[in-house]
Amino acid sequence: MIYLFIFILGLCIGSFLNVCIWRLPRGQSLLRPASHCPNCQNPIKWYDNIPLLSYSLLKGKCRRCSSPISPRYPLVEALTGTLFLLSLLHYYPITFTLSSSLLLLRDLLFISFLIPIFFIDLENQIIPNPLSYGIIITGLIINIFIHSLKIGTETIFYTNLFSPENGMHFYFPSFLSSLAGMAIGGGLFLAVYFLGSFFLKEESMGIGDIKLAAGIGVFLGWEGMLICFFLSFLLGAVIATTLLLTHLKKRRDKIPFAPFLVGAALISLFLGDKLLHLYLALL
Ligand SMILES: [Zn+2]
Repeated sequence: MIYLFIFILGLCIGSFLNVCIWRLPRGQSLLRPASHCPNCQNPIKWYDNIPLLSYSLLKGKCRRCSSPISPRYPLVEALTGTLFLLSLLHYYPITFTLSSSLLLLRDLLFISFLIPIFFIDLENQIIPNPLSYGIIITGLIINIFIHSLKIGTETIFYTNLFSPENGMHFYFPSFLSSLAGMAIGGGLFLAVYFLGSFFLKEESMGIGDIKLAAGIGVFLGWEGMLICFFLSFLLGAVIATTLLLTHLKKRRDKIPFAPFLVGAALISLFLGDKLLHLYLALL
């Protein structure tokens, strides 16, 4: 039941993230007006707004004017549902205590910031400030909250990535590691920004990417942030080369970087500890 519940919760949050993806880059309010067709302005009834289901029933068209609805809508809903489910499985078998629920909530919040950033940067080449500052502030607040709980009767099971034997199998960064992650994430991308501007004589990276990397660092801690940094450039290199070789993009085309950072952050969130152990075992 809890798995079904978290998947449906993900679908509903995904539906809200779709609103963010459309409205935030256009500077519109998230609350008003109610959802409407951007073509005929017809308000969308609740029964046409059910995640996944309505899209397939309407065959991807507006009920009134038949203008096509972007497949991004069901995609974002399904993606959010799946990632929420993965978060729960990540902590399997989870016993719901205050601390484990907070850890899960923390991952769900992280995912709920990453998804709209991915799609907005892909479509508009910007990361709106409410999202880039939001991810930093939310990460700091929930980490302070979780760490303050350690004083209580419940002990948070968190462990250092480099000494997994003296802890549980969940990785949770210490507060200091979160702050270091923020500084290292922001700092590394700031360095890339300056090096890129110096050698390429153009903006290789947006300021938004630097803020995003700082926010990801807060959630992943400095160890996870380093993994994310290398993974993002690896992903970027592989995908950019594929796009150039298949002539989907030309050399002069701008390729937004946040989608790679988001992809790398999700891989680090779910597999970061395993990747690092694998890497250390290879040495
Ligand atoms: Zn319409």
